[in-house]
Amino acid sequence: MLRLKLKPLFLIVLSLVAIAIAVVAGVPKAEALQAALSPANPLLGDTVTVWIATKQTTKTPPSVTINQKQYPAFLVAPNRWRAFIPTTPLDRVGDRQVRVVAEGLEQMLTLRLLDRDFPTQSIWLDEKAAALDVSDYEYERVSAFKQLATPQKFWRGAFLRPNDGPVTTGFGVRRYYNGVFANDYYHRGVDYAGDEGSAVIAPAPGQVRLVGTVAQGFQLHGNTIGVDHGQGVASIFIHLSRINVREGDFVQAGQVIGAVGSTGAATGPHLHWGLYVNGESIDPVPWREQGLQ
Ligand SMILES: [Zn+2]
Repeated sequence: MLRLKLKPLFLIVLSLVAIAIAVVAGVPKAEALQAALSPANPLLGDTVTVWIATKQTTKTPPSVTINQKQYPAFLVAPNRWRAFIPTTPLDRVGDRQVRVVAEGLEQMLTLRLLDRDFPTQSIWLDEKAAALDVSDYEYERVSAFKQLATPQKFWRGAFLRPNDGPVTTGFGVRRYYNGVFANDYYHRGVDYAGDEGSAVIAPAPGQVRLVGTVAQGFQLHGNTIGVDHGQGVASIFIHLSRINVREGDFVQAGQVIGAVGSTGAATGPHLHWGLYVNGESIDPVPWREQGLQ
């Protein structure tokens, strides 16, 4: 009786041991993609780098998405890809899943976006100033510029300061207009209080892809230069008094491209520099201090 009872139990134990051995000894595991976020816990306004290592350099770039929104990935070294995810002060704080697909493999990465306090300003506008708006012409040209995603990479290393003047308004400052908090507004760049006529230099190499003037209808931005640094990274310089470059020119880091002014909607001479990644204005400070590859 005892023997008969033990036998089935023995067989069950034996098969469990066999399964355990098979698992440990490596019945083929799903191969993992080598993707990582840097930083994984960014603050509002940071640019997140997605690094992806593939087995082979395929012609098809990896796909990087958050809720179906695609972020272009570029080859930066053999079998090594990089995509940028811009974050802004308007983004919702918290976790989101970044889906990376390459060579038929998928990896989910958790991006934990952390809160950051931005200073606030109160602006009181009279009716005339409140009515000053972007013209359709400048809106369309500036929007098209911000959407550029040139496959080449022109920049290298950390970005330079584009003007010697002190920073008067940093990135991300939020505003109250006539006492009402502007939900969609944040300061999309950095202001330098350089003297009228002082040099504006290219902070990094790139191609001039936008030149707009007051005469053409740039009533809000004033005289404007847009430099494409490649791969979805672009600088815009506004309120200029002088423009030294033409569309199509390639510029080097440190090259004088124009001069500080107060054209467009500016209360006094200053340079506004906006740095855009995949169409969003991000904090240029990490790009200035550490540089992004
Ligand atoms: Zn500004």
